[in-house]
Amino acid sequence: MATAAQECTTRFGEGIIASYPDPLRTCIWNAIVEKATDVHVHCVAEGFRVLHRVDGIIHPKEVLSTAEGRTLLNQLKTASGLNFVRSFTPKEGQLAWPDGDMRWEIRVTLTPVRDRESAHLRFLSMPKDQWDISSLGFTPIDQEKVSSAVHGLNGMILVTGATGSGKTTTMYCLASLMDLSTTTTYSIEDPVEFRLPYVQQIEVDEQHGLTMHEGLRTILRMDPDLILVGEIRDEASAVVAARAALSGRLVIATIHAQDAAGAVDSLHYLGVPYHVIGSSLRLVIAQNLVRRLCPDCARPVAVGDEDRDLFSQSGMEIPDHLLQADGCPECYSYGYKGRTGVFEVAAVDDEVATFIRSGAHHRELTDCLRKKGTRSMAQDGLEKAAMGVTCMEEIRRVCTFHQGIELMHRRMDPLSLEIAEMSRSDSN
Ligand SMILES: [Zn+2]
Repeated sequence: MATAAQECTTRFGEGIIASYPDPLRTCIWNAIVEKATDVHVHCVAEGFRVLHRVDGIIHPKEVLSTAEGRTLLNQLKTASGLNFVRSFTPKEGQLAWPDGDMRWEIRVTLTPVRDRESAHLRFLSMPKDQWDISSLGFTPIDQEKVSSAVHGLNGMILVTGATGSGKTTTMYCLASLMDLSTTTTYSIEDPVEFRLPYVQQIEVDEQHGLTMHEGLRTILRMDPDLILVGEIRDEASAVVAARAALSGRLVIATIHAQDAAGAVDSLHYLGVPYHVIGSSLRLVIAQNLVRRLCPDCARPVAVGDEDRDLFSQSGMEIPDHLLQADGCPECYSYGYKGRTGVFEVAAVDDEVATFIRSGAHHRELTDCLRKKGTRSMAQDGLEKAAMGVTCMEEIRRVCTFHQGIELMHRRMDPLSLEIAEMSRSDSN
């Protein structure tokens, strides 16, 4: 069997390899083969431990000796243009790794840990078809809702979810539904993680006075058709983004929340009055990511009692069987290959907008959305499990909390109530 380094030779040619010696070459190549998004090199008592993040999950890999780990860190510094001397403050650099027509760009962060250093590598580049909305996992009905909101050409679309739930990818896919070559599109992001063709991407740089709020105000003076905001975290940015949406621009923004109604709460909590949200909001996409089962080794299992309960409580038909992860050479024994989204896609029509303007509580707004046929993320996830795209373990991993939230709201969870009450009392 060819070693990773030998495969690398075949694939990249001698010219490239000369600039990336081992152990760096093997480290990066192994990550690319496994489709890791991140590589961590942590210092431990025995030396340096390598960890890969694949499809959102950390997998411990080999432990390098202290000497080998130090060589790797030094090679990383050289390749990413960082000072060779051991650093006493965190440092960030970037290196490029050509791969056929593509070019991986890898952000390297080194940080002092006790008397040594550890490293993090983030693979930034993505294949060009990554911005294709049909790759995200929307149902045809949800995709139609998304498409008509984007082509409405004004108002605000919010993409919400936890950290690492794929919000930025969705935002870019939404923007790519428009012909970006014939629109003026600006983004303000913190940080810019991926490049999007034709989009003027501005990165927040608070050290030099470029805050998100300042960036947004500048964009508004530059005749934008479409504005992307990643992500709304402060009051000033929230208010400017909402005003831009009211003034006939299309604003697509990410915001941290657990579900569609929670996104409305978050925006209001940041100081945007309910009547402004009701008038500007067109669509909310709440999402998370689940791992896709490897089609080569997934095996059928009977539907257990707990799973039956979940399906029936969610008003869904109980499937004949479900699939479960196993492991084979095709998926490097992980049992999974790639990820897909689970979504709650809430279109804001006149009725929902009126509800929002009236300052409806989270639970009331959620009930209103369910009555109008908006499925929860958990329901979307259960459907994906029933279709064999993923397994129940994955749905529980990402949706339990969300279901918990819905249950909490049924019991009127005190924190949510408090936030809703605070929002309500300072509205208008
Ligand atoms: Zn497999």
